[in-house]
Amino acid sequence: MKERDLIEQIRRLTGSGSADLLQGIGDDCAVIEKTAETVQLLTMDTLIESIHFDCSWHPPKKLGRKVVAVNVSDIAAMGGQPVFALLSLGLPADFDDQWLAGFSAGLTGACREYGCLLIGGDTVCSPDRRALTLTVIGEMKKEQVLYRHGARPGDTVWVSGPLGLAAAGLDLFRSGEMPDIPELQLLQEAHLDPHARVGLAVLLAQSGLVHAMMDLSDGLATDLSHLCEQSNVGARIMAERLPDYGKLTAAADFLQQDPIEWMISGGEDYELLFTADPADSKKLLKLITLCDYAIYPVGSIVEGKGVTLIRDPGEKGSDHEQNISYQGYDHFTVVGGASSRTP
Ligand code: ADP
Ligand code: MG
Repeated sequence: MKERDLIEQIRRLTGSGSADLLQGIGDDCAVIEKTAETVQLLTMDTLIESIHFDCSWHPPKKLGRKVVAVNVSDIAAMGGQPVFALLSLGLPADFDDQWLAGFSAGLTGACREYGCLLIGGDTVCSPDRRALTLTVIGEMKKEQVLYRHGARPGDTVWVSGPLGLAAAGLDLFRSGEMPDIPELQLLQEAHLDPHARVGLAVLLAQSGLVHAMMDLSDGLATDLSHLCEQSNVGARIMAERLPDYGKLTAAADFLQQDPIEWMISGGEDYELLFTADPADSKKLLKLITLCDYAIYPVGSIVEGKGVTLIRDPGEKGSDHEQNISYQGYDHFTVVGGASSRTP
């Protein structure tokens, strides 16, 4: 069974909801009414040792930061600001004090950076592997929440930064080679210490220009498929527009890999994926000059279903147009190529 079928099975068994619940299972966060004008956003993500991280190359401080970033990214995905966090820590009985000190310093430092306060959690013994779960609570104005379901045919699809860096970095770690090349170290750093795009997300939500948004955690192919399914539309992505091919070429040469695979199927980018009316493109580009971020148009929303990758826009045909729907990471499916990569 695929991860999304499993979640759908659970969703079908849940009750009929509550008057305060504006969004339940199916978006980056649950959305709950707080006051007439504001909502709370709730999200939870888990990192499991040897699935999501390997302590032989992941420094504990960076892992602590990453647990926060991947959760805060889901708050950013709706346009919100993180406020509180709860940590569940599963550690083997013989855990290492120094590892815990580094992890805790990273986690609390990142919480401070993102402006959220650790207010509780749980600590348990885990038989052999570390299991790290964070719940983050965010807040924002009700009318500004950006859901996955708002994309419209004709919209431009935007991403907030280079894709595939973390996936390439992970493959470099897994190759067992640690070449002393700055371009490759940048990719490894993208895997070890990702950043959630909170500042940009808040700006986009406040702008009123964005129709649908989510964060990229499972790769563009899978995440855009979720957004399209929720919005009842399809999407066409232009390979040549995906940022930033140049950052991947050294790793692609070194590992003999097609960089496009990392860009579409590699997970853990934690960039924002959003759609907006093409008539508002200039306004969006002007808006982001107010902050330190960049945004890149990578394709468009179309009527229909599925996500298509166009590799050579000059010519039509099956070699150039590839259905990439749900070709990113799935916890419960092992398929060929880069999709089998665990994040
Ligand atoms: P994301 O990648 O943004 O963290 P997920 O793919 O993990 O989102 O989850 C998709 C949706 O399914 C979210 O709304 C999440 O809260 C919900 N979900 C995931 N796992 C479960 C579960 N075991 N029980 C209930 N809801 C779940
Ligand atoms: Mg998400």
